[in-house]
Amino acid sequence: MKVRNPRTGECDYEIAPLDESAVAEAAARLRAGQADWAARPAGERGDILLRWAAAIEARADGIAAALTLDTGRKGISRIEVLGVAGLIKRWAGSAAAIIAAHSPSGAPTAQPTITTTTRLVPYPLVGVISPWNFPLTLALIDAIPALMAGCAVLVKPSEVAPRFIRPLAETIAETPELAEVLAVIEGDGATGAAIIGQVDYVCFTGSVATGRKVGESAAHHFIPASLELGGKDPMIVMASADPRKSAEIALRASIVNTGQACQSIERIYVDRAIAEPFIAALVAAAEKIRLNYPDIDRGDIGPFIFGKQAAIVQAQIDDAVSHGATIRTGGATENLGGGLYLRPTVLTDVTPDMAIMREESFGPVLPVTVYDTIDEAVALANAGEFGLSAAVIAGTAGEAESVAARLRAGAVSINDGSLTSMVWEAEKSSFGLSGLGASRMGESGLLRFFRRQALIRQEGEAAPIAAYAEESFR
Ligand code: NAD
Repeated sequence: MKVRNPRTGECDYEIAPLDESAVAEAAARLRAGQADWAARPAGERGDILLRWAAAIEARADGIAAALTLDTGRKGISRIEVLGVAGLIKRWAGSAAAIIAAHSPSGAPTAQPTITTTTRLVPYPLVGVISPWNFPLTLALIDAIPALMAGCAVLVKPSEVAPRFIRPLAETIAETPELAEVLAVIEGDGATGAAIIGQVDYVCFTGSVATGRKVGESAAHHFIPASLELGGKDPMIVMASADPRKSAEIALRASIVNTGQACQSIERIYVDRAIAEPFIAALVAAAEKIRLNYPDIDRGDIGPFIFGKQAAIVQAQIDDAVSHGATIRTGGATENLGGGLYLRPTVLTDVTPDMAIMREESFGPVLPVTVYDTIDEAVALANAGEFGLSAAVIAGTAGEAESVAARLRAGAVSINDGSLTSMVWEAEKSSFGLSGLGASRMGESGLLRFFRRQALIRQEGEAAPIAAYAEESFR
């Protein structure tokens, strides 16, 4: 299968997607290793993962270089590699205590002679199916806590950005105990579909359309699914906010990674009282953003990673304009050396029924709507099918927070944007079509990989059958 290079448009790489029988073979091998892995104390699993983190750090340059070819941007590739090493260290250091805290032994019950002990029993094999926008991070964000829980893990990253898999696989091979229970395989949608029939739990990150298929297949196979899907995150900018600072926050939260982030701000609602200076500042700041072309070592945003995404975003912009929207800056995809780039695009005069206001863009697009009352802003922000995250900016955090609590979203950034990309501690659920299943953040990120087994101990006399005789109830 040919893989396109996002900077040149050339298909300069190939993968060999695993077919159904190869997936079954990989799954069987991992299952065979899982019992020994789960039998190790969590601290020992953590020590092995720490050696893996060191192997990743030692090969950081090679993995980052592959990710750069996959995505057409460099700095974020490095952030991904170091971030994943950090993630491993965080779970390696915290999992044992979380497991102990949730495994009470000999706990009393309402029955004086009966106590309970809770055992956390890991799902033997977890499947991970991940997207192309942060290829390394999203391949491993669920895999790492699953490994710490004692599961074996089969990961299938996106076929759009697979070059990092081979250098990553070397770090797994260098950690032999881990290689028994972790495999990262090449494959396409068919490979992903085959995984669901082989695993005991599936973690999927990607689009709503595919997420629906994965959820249906998981239901068919009677396994739990964590579905982390798309978003159309709104930001409300209140009258008391500083227009210039708010514009800078909105811009950053919209365009980092060329807007190819699930938690990107894709709709902005600004109070009429500050709309004019806010929009002026947003346009001015947007016009300063530089493409990382021709020199990848300079600039702020890269090309579209997935060529087809450029066409989707352009169609949304064109549709909005044909229905009366005004482009304040940007608006036209540029083909530079074969890569497809879009400068930050600010639109006004948008209406809620436009595709650009309802469908995920996954590009550096900022449609701005002016509102008159906060109730109107809340209603507009809550419209639509998604509910991933949101943001509110006001003069004080308290004022912003009172509005944040009214939003239908799993996480709301207050006086900032996209904070879910920086904070791991808080549990959050996806609302609406943005997902289903336990939070991947916070302790739940680990605990969802266990089934609970209750060992219920009778310390007194077992109840005689006579206790249930009709006479005993008279
Ligand atoms: P996608 O749904 O097209 O593909 C995701 C993965 O699913 C890929 O690995 C693909 O090969 C696989 N796949 C395709 N068909 C399949 C099938 N029938 N069964 C099983 N697997 C199958 O998504 P994408 O375009 O790679 O990623 C972009 C999407 O991901 C956006 O919607 C974005 O919002 C979402 N996303 C969500 C989060 C989150 O945490 N909520 C994070 C990042 C990205």
